[in-house]
Amino acid sequence: MKSVDLVVIGAGPAGLMCAWKAASLSRSRVLVLEKNSKPGKKLLVAGSGRCNLTNSAPLETFFRSYGDSGRFVRPCLQNFPPSDLREFFESRGLPLEKLNGGKMFPRSGKSSDVLRVLLSACSAENAEIALSERVVSIVRAPGGFIVSTDKAEYGASCVAITTGGSSWPVTGSTGDGFALAAALGHSIVPPRPALAPVFPARYDCASCAGYALEGVHASLWKNGRKAGERRGDALFTHDGLSGPLILDFSRDFAPGDEIRLDLGSLSAHDRPQGESGPRCMDSLLADLCARFPKRTFANAVSSGLALSEALVKVVFSRAGADPSRTGAVLSKAERKAIASVLAEFSFTIERIGDFSVAMATAGGVDVSEANPKTMESRIVPGLHFAGEVLDVDGDTGGFNLQFAFSSGVLAAESAARILASATS
Ligand SMILES: Cc1cc2nc3c(=O)[nH]c(=O)nc-3n(C[C@H](O)[C@H](O)[C@H](O)COP(=O)(O)OP(=O)(O)OC[C@H]3O[C@@H](n4cnc5c(N)ncnc54)[C@H](O)[C@@H]3O)c2cc1C
Repeated sequence: MKSVDLVVIGAGPAGLMCAWKAASLSRSRVLVLEKNSKPGKKLLVAGSGRCNLTNSAPLETFFRSYGDSGRFVRPCLQNFPPSDLREFFESRGLPLEKLNGGKMFPRSGKSSDVLRVLLSACSAENAEIALSERVVSIVRAPGGFIVSTDKAEYGASCVAITTGGSSWPVTGSTGDGFALAAALGHSIVPPRPALAPVFPARYDCASCAGYALEGVHASLWKNGRKAGERRGDALFTHDGLSGPLILDFSRDFAPGDEIRLDLGSLSAHDRPQGESGPRCMDSLLADLCARFPKRTFANAVSSGLALSEALVKVVFSRAGADPSRTGAVLSKAERKAIASVLAEFSFTIERIGDFSVAMATAGGVDVSEANPKTMESRIVPGLHFAGEVLDVDGDTGGFNLQFAFSSGVLAAESAARILASATS
């Protein structure tokens, strides 16, 4: 049986960063076990192959971007903040650039360059990567662990589980880490899709597919009660809703919930903040009627509210109004009906995209059982976690990869300390 100091399970961004850092700190023998025949499969598809690896937002924004796990991620992001990540890549010849929303990408526009830098950093520190080796069990043993794959057994003083979540299973993230952690006594918060599109019941916006609402206000309603609100960019697809607003919000969604989009709230409109709702929309429409009495009212609404004609058609159909009538002949009741559809353009969620389309996994190893300052298990000394295997999921915009990298570094630093104290 081969023995090493640290076994890292999974060659994704968290695992590779962890392997590089541990090897560079302790000069210890680090072995990464990856079940795929190639490392970093999910990293390669991140950001549509361009890899949005972090964000230029201040740390406070980061802390707010991980839902309920905001407190847990603090020490790890403070220890290895986005500025250190940028320095890591730029000092290795991969300049980054900032695009819309503070999203940071490699200037080359290629995820493969991000992976190349990680692999060469590992290789420079002699961290070994064994491919096509699927870890099937981790057992505690005197002085550490025995890690078994489908091919061999390895002895290790420390182990880091960096197997990712369950989303996009074709990339290798099939939830193995949850079973491995559970077998060692860890609680697993039931995994569910996050950053997923939603599919409403009786979807009537297929004609709007590809159309994006920029900076729209959305509210979430559960059993008739408001359960949250957000603003961002939403996208109509052939069969549902997507775009950053919907993806980020999706961790709070459940079938049967209602999403209401305020179509009068787009960032393109220069209405004072706080002015919304059917009544306010009605006075806006009355104004449009007066300004454009001879245009069809659908046309006036489309240009007055900067909405596509296809979407306005759906609005009129929901309101039971005739889109070919002019503002001059529109009845007050019709106008009010149109106003209320516009202010509360509502969808009832039938289902949320499953793991095959979700970009992240909510749930995973319960963070109350990991030390946020070390990423070490509070149950099994020497066992560490990093990345999406933990119950941490961030918004779109580079927050998930930053957490994978930062938690990988923190786990490595802790493992290196343990290894150093064992030899001293
Ligand atoms: C389409 C898509 C686009 C995305 N775009 C972005 C983006 O632009 N920005 C962003 O911040 N986030 C993005 N994400 C999310 C981001 O990619 C993940 O959060 C991140 O990859 C998680 O890193 P990880 O190292 O924890 O896990 P993963 O990247 O999932 O890596 C885990 C690795 O462990 C291996 N593994 C699993 N089980 C075993 C086992 N039993 N034995 C050995 N190896 C095993 C897997 O094969 C895999 O290689 C995207 C996700 C998807 C699906």
